[in-house]
Amino acid sequence: MARKIGSRYTANQILGRGSAGTVWLGEGPEGPVAIKLLREDLASDQELVGRFVQERTALLGLDHPHVVSVRDLVVDGNDLALVMDLVRGTDLRTRLDRERRLAPEAAVAIVADVADGLAAAHAAGVVHRDVKPENVLLDMQGPLGPGGSHPALLTDFGVAKLIDSPRRTRATKIIGTPDYLAPEIIEGLPPRAAVDIYALATVLYELLAGFTPFGGGHPGAVLRRHVTETVVPLPGIPEELWQLIVQCLAKAPASRLRASELGARLREQLPLLAGMPPLDVDSPDSEAEEQDETYEETAEPSAPVARQRRGAVPLVPGAAPDSNRDTHTSMRVPAPDELAGGARGTARAPRATGAPRPGSARHRASARRRRITLGVAGAVLVAAIGVGTWIAVSGDDADGTPQDTKNSAPASP
Ligand code: ADP
Ligand code: MG
Repeated sequence: MARKIGSRYTANQILGRGSAGTVWLGEGPEGPVAIKLLREDLASDQELVGRFVQERTALLGLDHPHVVSVRDLVVDGNDLALVMDLVRGTDLRTRLDRERRLAPEAAVAIVADVADGLAAAHAAGVVHRDVKPENVLLDMQGPLGPGGSHPALLTDFGVAKLIDSPRRTRATKIIGTPDYLAPEIIEGLPPRAAVDIYALATVLYELLAGFTPFGGGHPGAVLRRHVTETVVPLPGIPEELWQLIVQCLAKAPASRLRASELGARLREQLPLLAGMPPLDVDSPDSEAEEQDETYEETAEPSAPVARQRRGAVPLVPGAAPDSNRDTHTSMRVPAPDELAGGARGTARAPRATGAPRPGSARHRASARRRRITLGVAGAVLVAAIGVGTWIAVSGDDADGTPQDTKNSAPASP
């Protein structure tokens, strides 16, 4: 099943499939490599191919121990491929799925690695824009670090940006994974380095808690929470670590730490975290089992609630679940009456896996937040409908006004 990629590479075996294409274990002139073969619809997009070639320098320029280096870009017939360093190991999502929550020391060590990788990228003017556990690879052949963690490397640099070409998206279309999207992106500002910090702080929270701070339910609800809600403290988390998370989840991008500082501050905390077990946080999965009867705001308590991955539960009846792990969000736009809090409105949807258990501190906090957010629901939902409309814009709209400001957004100074 081997196939040639350009004149120099052979793809031998599929390592994994992602939203942008398939990753192969391959062989190049200098030994084994990972080859990401982009999806056919992306590869046949002439403008994307042009950008791909244009981006060559920026993509190839990143060389850092915590970044998966792109070694080559191949445009060959119908194939469009990124040749990367091969990382022998697993991605962070797989590890998190297996362990559910990581011990603070391991979580912090991994996130500090990624912060260092981001610092190098930001210094080179590259914003990642899709930081999430799926895009962090753990190098099992690397030395064991604090908390027994292997080195973490950030991958998929520039892929979000490549796919986010003017023809495929409008300035207002949102690119990214809803759970990790910084509020300023939702509000339509160009993505700067601080969006990566927000996403990385979300990953850190998720590693510690087992769920993201604002995830769960329809993507529109997730987007709204990013803009309007504050993060609920995790029980038992050391105060200094919590303050770092809060600071990096600040709504105002300028209030967040820079990547290099985040990396350094996290590493400072490692000795204090040594030996600490994973936080004792309500487990989303065990909560899911009791949710139907006990959730006070469940619209239809007797209706069976499908066990879906958190973040993929449609809050709007009849809506197909979205895969919120994809690079591109796509969502059904809730009708105004659905959003306006009728019997089937957003606020009364059954508790999603990952939503707080009724009566728990997190639930009380979220009920309180819900009251607050319902108070501003009118304004925000208008915004959400706006967001949804942008998102609904088809990827291949032809009128595409070039949005170069968005696509060449430099890292913040
Ligand atoms: P996408 O971002 O398009 O969704 P991914 O980059 O996540 O796709 O790749 C899909 C799979 O391939 C992942 O599960 C990951 O483990 C594997 N993979 C990606 N890049 C590499 C690499 N450089 N070395 C080894 N495996 C990789
Ligand atoms: Mg990826």
